[in-house]
Amino acid sequence: MEATNKKGKVYLVGAGPGRPDLITVRGLELLKCADCVIYDKLANSALLNYARPDAELLAVPKRVGSESVRQEQINNLLVQKAREGKSVVRLKGGDPYIFGRGTEEAAVLAEAGVDFEVVPGVTAALAASCYSGIALTDRALASEVIFVTGHEAEGKQQTGIDWQLLAKFTGTIVFYMGVENLNDITRRLIENGMSPEIFTAVVADATLPTQKFVKATLVSIADSCTKNKITPPALVFIGPTAAGDARLEWLIKLPLFGKTVVVTRGAEGGAEFAAKIAARMAVTIEIPVTKIKTLTDSGDFIKTLAQIKFYDWVVFTSCNGVETFFAAIAKLNKDARVFGSAKIAAIGVRTAETLAAFGIKADFVPSAFTSKDLAAGLIDFTNLRDKKILLLRSQIASDDLPQLLEAAGALVDSVPVYTHEKNLCDLKPLSEKTIHWLTFASPFAATCFFEQVSVDFVKSKDAKVASIGPVTSKKLAELGMKVDVEASEHTFDGLISAIEQYELRTTK
Ligand code: SAH
Repeated sequence: MEATNKKGKVYLVGAGPGRPDLITVRGLELLKCADCVIYDKLANSALLNYARPDAELLAVPKRVGSESVRQEQINNLLVQKAREGKSVVRLKGGDPYIFGRGTEEAAVLAEAGVDFEVVPGVTAALAASCYSGIALTDRALASEVIFVTGHEAEGKQQTGIDWQLLAKFTGTIVFYMGVENLNDITRRLIENGMSPEIFTAVVADATLPTQKFVKATLVSIADSCTKNKITPPALVFIGPTAAGDARLEWLIKLPLFGKTVVVTRGAEGGAEFAAKIAARMAVTIEIPVTKIKTLTDSGDFIKTLAQIKFYDWVVFTSCNGVETFFAAIAKLNKDARVFGSAKIAAIGVRTAETLAAFGIKADFVPSAFTSKDLAAGLIDFTNLRDKKILLLRSQIASDDLPQLLEAAGALVDSVPVYTHEKNLCDLKPLSEKTIHWLTFASPFAATCFFEQVSVDFVKSKDAKVASIGPVTSKKLAELGMKVDVEASEHTFDGLISAIEQYELRTTK
């Protein structure tokens, strides 16, 4: 045990169901600060990305022996980590106190004299209700709601469940852990007098892009689940509201819901792009085929830095250029004053926002997105004759921008601050899943992807191809790929919106 004076504390945090952003603000705050995170499989593992890089991440012990042995191991672990002086987040799926043994963990902590706090979470029934359109209560149909564990149905003599009461219940019944025992549950209810024809629905993987929703009657639900290959985690809703209401099924109307989208974008915004797609309820597969190499250690860059204040304009063409630049000057103990009175231009709102985060308000941001737009815009904006312009951008950027600026009479220096390199990827996720869309946000990403994956493989998957703009589309065509959609606005949002429009046109 580490010797420490710090007093440990355990936070039992409800992670919410399925999608990671349904955790509470308090839960997330604690997760971000925790020294140690102890999680189980129902909590979405994407939440672990919020933990500190140096936090200890522990999956709770796998089932060895009985459930009570396993629970005892978890309890001991919580006490041990708190006694090491750690701030421990015990991340539990849904709500910690709903069928989650949270009370048992809290009681052990109390007895061991360990400080604790309990943070509620969105329990699966509430989430499945909102995401499927099954009301838990309804002024006309259901004035009561009851949560039941389906774990006890199977062949137990002693049961804490009052089947007679449930069979008479006129509100909404929600069974947790019920799909494995669905035959037993329905049989017991019918034996106790419940109508076999009562509406029954099952929601599996609630709030995830893989959510499934099956509606039937009490007597037929088990068969419907088998036919629809329903597997846990799933909830069973029984009662008049389980008929659902098609008007409330907003999730399945999302154009990207359930579609598998491959993001080939690498370090430069790849995670942000994947998050945007995931937020539209698509399954994202990240295959980051490019990575960034900074070039700011070069002698060229250091020399440029000394000269920068003598330029009339400094132009940034990407967020990455801005970030690389500021990281490099910070290392040299310098700050934004290196620009002197030079004016600053940024291609794209995101580049301008990144500059703003470093305290620089761009003097010029073209309303469109390409290098050509920037050149045309800047030429309109000011007389460039004999003006000194410095481009700080990627080594593999095209010559369009300097050529256009030079044609307008400017004296242009282009200094690379970073470059893209091929990133060798684990391609396993591509063969495991159905793929609906492949997305490409640069010609270089297209090249790097097809150096690792064959065109025939992609064609065999019947995947559609989405390109961020004409230059990327041209490269894809050269590589032998048909481009199904091209974004009219050459941004991540533009790319997503082009795919959505295609899906709306063709499937809904
Ligand atoms: N504490 C959790 C429940 C744990 S019991 C909560 O409050 O939600 C585990 C059961 O929860 C599963 O068997 C399933 O019935 C239900 N469940 C959890 N996540 C679910 C999800 N995303 N979709 C449907 N059911 C889910």
